[in-house]
Amino acid sequence: MAVTVHDVPPGDAVIVAEPRKRRPQGKLLSVVIPMHNEQEGLAALFDRLVPVLEDLPLRYEIVCVNDGSRDDTLDRLLALRRRYRCLRVVDLSRNFGKEAALTAGLDHARGDAVVPIDADLQDPPELIQVFVEQWLNGYDVVYGVRSSRPGDGVGKRLTAHLFYRLFNVLSDTTIPADTGDFRLMDRRVVTALRQLPERNRFSKGLFAWVGFRQIGVAYDHADRVAGRSKWRLWRLWNYAIDGITAFSTTPLRIWTYLGLAIAVCAFAYALAIVAAVLIGGRDVPGYASLIVVVLFLGGIQLIGLGVIGEYIGRIYQETKARPTYLVDRVYGDPPPPIAEDADADAETRAGQ
Ligand code: UDP
Ligand code: MG
Repeated sequence: MAVTVHDVPPGDAVIVAEPRKRRPQGKLLSVVIPMHNEQEGLAALFDRLVPVLEDLPLRYEIVCVNDGSRDDTLDRLLALRRRYRCLRVVDLSRNFGKEAALTAGLDHARGDAVVPIDADLQDPPELIQVFVEQWLNGYDVVYGVRSSRPGDGVGKRLTAHLFYRLFNVLSDTTIPADTGDFRLMDRRVVTALRQLPERNRFSKGLFAWVGFRQIGVAYDHADRVAGRSKWRLWRLWNYAIDGITAFSTTPLRIWTYLGLAIAVCAFAYALAIVAAVLIGGRDVPGYASLIVVVLFLGGIQLIGLGVIGEYIGRIYQETKARPTYLVDRVYGDPPPPIAEDADADAETRAGQ
């Protein structure tokens, strides 16, 4: 029960603490940070992030996922845990990649809203205030839109732009252009995401696929404060293929139409040859055209097989049903059960 000043007997010393900020309905915000070799930027990250969170009218926790870092990231995180009680650290058993680390973070977050953010301060933590405002206004997902990307080179910007356009043409799920993982998601959205059983997780697509009331907020995507991006060109290429195959079967269908088109051309060419022989009365010299057509069709068929293989490979991966990540140890509270929401809501209400 709350004790007001009037409840204190006269003469007793009243220690008036700092007025506590009103934290509406005791809501909890989880900030989820996947980390792979981020030791240099850690201090700067916390120095900038924590004051922002302190200013929010909410309770908060920070969930850091150590994704098999080979540097000092884990030790530094554990040291930070002594200073920040709200910090929980999920240590994965090896490097599983950013998508898996993010999934681990979402699984371990306990908040009524969850904000995934990169460790390199490319996403400004100050924007979380705007996210929270929009969330309290009733939006379930508030996503950051990179209005400028001074931190990325021309090549990366161009390829990213092309990828989003291509993805949206091929897939029924539309990813808003220039969005990353930096966003706020209501607990309902996180529960929906956790219920999706797929192992090959293309978060950007899944975030868009789940729907709910979404709104975008523009921001400048800054340069990394420390360290290097872990995304090399080959990795980005594979990431793009993962994304497209996870959300579209159009690449499979293309081969049907391509096959049809080639068959029609071949038929027309056959007619032309017959006409040339009948009308012109001469044999058509064949070797060069023949070999070109044979090689061309052979190439087309191999590409078609490759595309089918991409899908079969993914079916194989999914049927093995291996977990997306393995946790070595959790420093702090264990993850919440997946279907806790209804009960937890009722409990929170009863406890208030
Ligand atoms: N990251 C991770 N596992 C990996 C690669 C990256 O957890 O295997 C984290 C990384 O520490 C950072 C975030 O994912 O917090 C984004 O990575 P990065 O900045 O390298 O990607 P970019 O901003 O270039 O897309
Ligand atoms: Mg980055």
